[in-house]
Amino acid sequence: MSSARMTVTPEYLFRQEVLDLHAYHVPPGTGMLKLDAMENPYVLPPQLRAEIALLAGDAQINRYPDAGASKLKEKIREVTELPPGMDILLGNGSDEIIQLLALAAAKPGATLMGVEPSFVMYKMIAAFAGMNYAGVPLTENFALDLPAILNAIRQHQPALVFLAYPNNPTGNLFDAGAIGQIIDATPGLVIVDEAYYAFASHSFIPKLADYSNLLVMRTFSKLGMAGLRLGFLAGSKAWVEHLEKLRLPYNVGVLTQLVAEKLLQHHDILLRQAEQIKLDRAWLYERLVGTVDVRAYPSEANFILFHVAHATRVFEGLKQRGVLIKNMNNAHTALTDCLRVTVGTPEENELFIRALQESIHESKNSIGSQS
Ligand code: PMP
Repeated sequence: MSSARMTVTPEYLFRQEVLDLHAYHVPPGTGMLKLDAMENPYVLPPQLRAEIALLAGDAQINRYPDAGASKLKEKIREVTELPPGMDILLGNGSDEIIQLLALAAAKPGATLMGVEPSFVMYKMIAAFAGMNYAGVPLTENFALDLPAILNAIRQHQPALVFLAYPNNPTGNLFDAGAIGQIIDATPGLVIVDEAYYAFASHSFIPKLADYSNLLVMRTFSKLGMAGLRLGFLAGSKAWVEHLEKLRLPYNVGVLTQLVAEKLLQHHDILLRQAEQIKLDRAWLYERLVGTVDVRAYPSEANFILFHVAHATRVFEGLKQRGVLIKNMNNAHTALTDCLRVTVGTPEENELFIRALQESIHESKNSIGSQS
């Protein structure tokens, strides 16, 4: 090896858009009451946990997983009530599926479009894949601004449009008729991201056959399987078979396949937990609405966005009390002084509300003492 060789640096070697990215920040939650990541707070019944332990013990982890995950796919098809003729693609979480779509569509100059504020990974993944990104602002109450979106579609001719349904971090379901018009007007694909489907009142799965450029993406992360990493994309074979070529063959591991299949055999248990979370959400929403200085936004997901004066100070006060939620204050101008809390168990929600009231009180006092 020549000693005269120049040391190669990331700044020299890597693409500028990669150097410009900030890594997706996951704050440490150990020892905290974790209400920041939209996880299901309920554990599984002991009997089912014992069955999973047996399955894991017998799993052939010395072998590669079934690359096609055929049994798991069949189970997903069944519990999702997929319309006939539709196919599915599995991802290591739905994040991976967003990335596969962007990789496939990243022709020079191609655009990925989203609305803002929404799930930040759409914009980040556009940058990973070298796609242009266009974000169309939502209206003041976080609804779709249809004229602005149709205009942006005409201008950018997007290859991919991502709509989170319900939206993260705002929690609302967009108007289904407006989404239909967006699908009709888009020259590329529209991906309706139903990460929070289990807590929502409406889905686009039954509409898949109505539009040739519609795909629906879901994840099992919010339904109690965040640790397994499993998401899927549903749509016509014509799209799925090409995306399959980009999917790394063993992206869904042996244990994930076995455990997810077992859990989906007990889909009713997961759905009952989701129903309980919806009741917990209603309780939490009422309590937030009744908290002085808080403005809460209605939610069809397993989290609630709320506005509070001096949000960052309140967020820090919650952290000091051992409660971790998500500070959205600097995420987008429309989210100034907004925080997002994941719905927990009734006990967790009570702890959170108490800590929130104390933090707001403390924040007001410290401001009062400064002035
Ligand atoms: N879509 C939306 C709208 C989300 O909020 C999330 C997770 N926060 C995801 C997709 C990704 O979920 P996962 O990778 O866990 O499947």
